[in-house]
Amino acid sequence: MQVLKFGGSSVATAENMEKVIAILLAASGSGTTAVVLSAMGGVTDALISSGKLAAAGSEQYKQLLQTIETRHLDAVRSLIPVARQSALLSWVKQRCNEMESLCEGVFLLGELSPRTLDRLVSYGEWLSSFIVSGALQSREVPHVWADSRQLIRTDSSFGNAKVDMTATRELMNAYVKEYPAPLYILPGFVASDARQVTTTLGRGGSDYTAALVAASLQADVLEIWTDVSGMMTADPRWVSHARVIDRISYQEAMELSHFGAKVVYPPTIQPVMDSGIPVWIKNTFAPKDPGTLIEHEVNEDRKGPVRGISSINDMALLSLEGSGMVGVPGVASRLFQALAAQSINVILITQGSSEFSICVGVAGADAENAREAVNAAFSYEIGKGAIQPVRLETHLAVVALVGDNMKSHPGISGRMFGALGRNGVNVRAIAQGASEKNISSVVASEDVKKAVNVLHEAFFETAYKQLNLYIVGLGNVGSKLMEQLKQQQYYLLKHVRLQLRVIGIANSRQMALNEQGIDLGNWQQALQEGAPMDLDAFVEEARRHNLRNSVFVDNTASERVALVYDRLLTRSIAVVACNKIACSSKYPVYQRLKFLARDYNTNFFFETNVGAGLPVIGPLSDMVRSGDRVDRIDAVLSGTLNFVFNNYDATRPFAEVVRQAQEEGYTEPDPRLDLGGTDVMRKILILARECGAEMDMEDITNNSFMPESCMKGSVEDFYKELARHEAHFAGLYQKAKDNGRILKFVASFSEGKAQVGLQEVSPEHGFYHLYGKDNVVQFYTKRYPQQPLMVKGAGAGADVTASGVFADIIRAARV
Ligand code: ADP
Ligand code: ASP
Ligand code: MG
Repeated sequence: MQVLKFGGSSVATAENMEKVIAILLAASGSGTTAVVLSAMGGVTDALISSGKLAAAGSEQYKQLLQTIETRHLDAVRSLIPVARQSALLSWVKQRCNEMESLCEGVFLLGELSPRTLDRLVSYGEWLSSFIVSGALQSREVPHVWADSRQLIRTDSSFGNAKVDMTATRELMNAYVKEYPAPLYILPGFVASDARQVTTTLGRGGSDYTAALVAASLQADVLEIWTDVSGMMTADPRWVSHARVIDRISYQEAMELSHFGAKVVYPPTIQPVMDSGIPVWIKNTFAPKDPGTLIEHEVNEDRKGPVRGISSINDMALLSLEGSGMVGVPGVASRLFQALAAQSINVILITQGSSEFSICVGVAGADAENAREAVNAAFSYEIGKGAIQPVRLETHLAVVALVGDNMKSHPGISGRMFGALGRNGVNVRAIAQGASEKNISSVVASEDVKKAVNVLHEAFFETAYKQLNLYIVGLGNVGSKLMEQLKQQQYYLLKHVRLQLRVIGIANSRQMALNEQGIDLGNWQQALQEGAPMDLDAFVEEARRHNLRNSVFVDNTASERVALVYDRLLTRSIAVVACNKIACSSKYPVYQRLKFLARDYNTNFFFETNVGAGLPVIGPLSDMVRSGDRVDRIDAVLSGTLNFVFNNYDATRPFAEVVRQAQEEGYTEPDPRLDLGGTDVMRKILILARECGAEMDMEDITNNSFMPESCMKGSVEDFYKELARHEAHFAGLYQKAKDNGRILKFVASFSEGKAQVGLQEVSPEHGFYHLYGKDNVVQFYTKRYPQQPLMVKGAGAGADVTASGVFADIIRAARV
């Protein structure tokens, strides 16, 4: 004897029903077969809506019933040859008329009782199973259609009736004895109480019907045919990398389904487990896929202690607290009795070892009832002030790790909370069953999808991570970065097991966001087709997406963009800035951002603020963190000024050399920020701060070589003024040349003081041989007292800056 159950999507259309028939015919060759069928997909929902519309006085129920009728009639017409259709067509029409009469009654009364609703929804499985039976009959397949309502006995809790197992077993055995057949077709979900009134077994209950049939008739196997290829490591609609679990124990399957894995209805497992009947989960649409086998303990060597991750959304936490609970026996039992009396299901329980509080999780829909029930049960203690009135928190969800073997693996909860914490998911409460088959965390509803993905990544994709980027600024550096990301995407996936996705891009005019990732080969078009840039909306979207391993990248020089970092960091979105404004603004701003990154367990990196792609800030902070003391920094930090002084020899006007630097992309948009020393001041300020100095721009001495009149007006005015002052620049050059030296714009920091200015450098000096747009930084420290640690190389240019940003991105995501 074998039992096969086909779910709603498996019988949703005539085409799917054909697949079902093919599978059951192939199976029924080997021994007696019982087939349990769900209603056509969506029909139960539609029937519930019809009933509710009718009760609410809306005639729209008629349209809904009409579409239900059409679907069923169409199925009959496709499945059965024309000559043999008419009896079944008129039978379907009769049933649909009955549903209409029922709804009319509801409409007139303005009331839909649970009993009437059960009667109404029972038509769903009645129709689908009868149609499949009709199709078999037309193909002359010997079988019996058996009415589950006559075979499954329940109490009268309509909508979620409790099964009387003994009576059911007797009814079923008597039935098969009286009507022996090779094949039985039964409607799922429906049953009846002792007075033969129709009841239902709860949403998704057809699985349970099948388990009851299997247990009652001592079947050898139960097969649950659905629309996925087995029980998976997580809900595949949420986790794209979820994979099929090949074998799982009854306990684990039960635990996963209780915690939201909809693929099997939770009560299903118990009856088959009690009878030791193996269960297969199979895919109607891919029947050759092996599926999942659910059986007793699975002893084989497993890939890991966690078998699956599931979640329940819309949950509420009820906390009962007060000194009057300490050492008083029976408080917990009174609490649970009060909830049980209202038929409120407790999803999880936690109690602090101080006994000062008990916290229980219930479904959001039960929250208010639960609060009232518990407050009433403890009204005496609450009145005396020994216990506080119940505290209720809503909009929560539970995420559960499930696995029989978790108990023998230490550190799983640590890994769970570590992964959640790193991604800014706040855990409100935790519960771990004594069996340790389940570790549950309560999180905010808005975080649940992210939490499931974070945990799936942590426990099932250890060699595979996702990185989600939001990139603002697509000019010289930004577009180079996009190019590099595209070029490296495949390498990272293959060799680093890192899936790099760009979720948002923006420049000052346009922005584009796509939660599935923007095609890096075509980002310009995505940007063009996007929306006008709205920075606040862009940031809000990044916060709302709430994706794991998110990094915001700022390639602009905009102050406005620098002002949004705090909103990102407080959502645990890492920030990588090539923009220097945040780190060189007032000290408290810089300090706060660093604190926020630490408090929210994320990162704020800005390596490219100094020396573009050169590793300067990273090594400096490594030295400081490892206990070195920086005594002095000397540096040439302006690629622009280097370029200018390396190319200027008074034969060509100074203004022309500066313009060339700007045209080649080595200057800030306003070249005065470079020439006036501001840019270098910002850089030495950032280095000084990274050494621990609480310094501001005003504390830096700027020995500027620029005539004051050049620093006023527009950029074009500036070029005119430069030309007017050619003699000044030629003089500086000539004087150095006469001394056998060259000009370098040097920044220094020592003993808490910083300065910048033009210096004449002699050939023996380490800064003399500095070509093109190179930068150099010398660190004199306790560990490098005489020979400084020196970093030297190209210190400007879009390519190297973009590669520095790229390196920060990878570091920021901690992958
Ligand atoms: P049926 O109509 O066949 O009873 P259901 O819709 O009730 O099917 O259950 C199958 C669905 O359960 C899948 O399509 C999938 O989206 C969802 N699901 C949730 N969690 C899991 C999981 N852990 N493994 C497999 N499927 C899951
Ligand atoms: N048709 C019912 C429902 O949708 C039962 C089932 O499909 O399992 O809930
Ligand atoms: Mg189901």
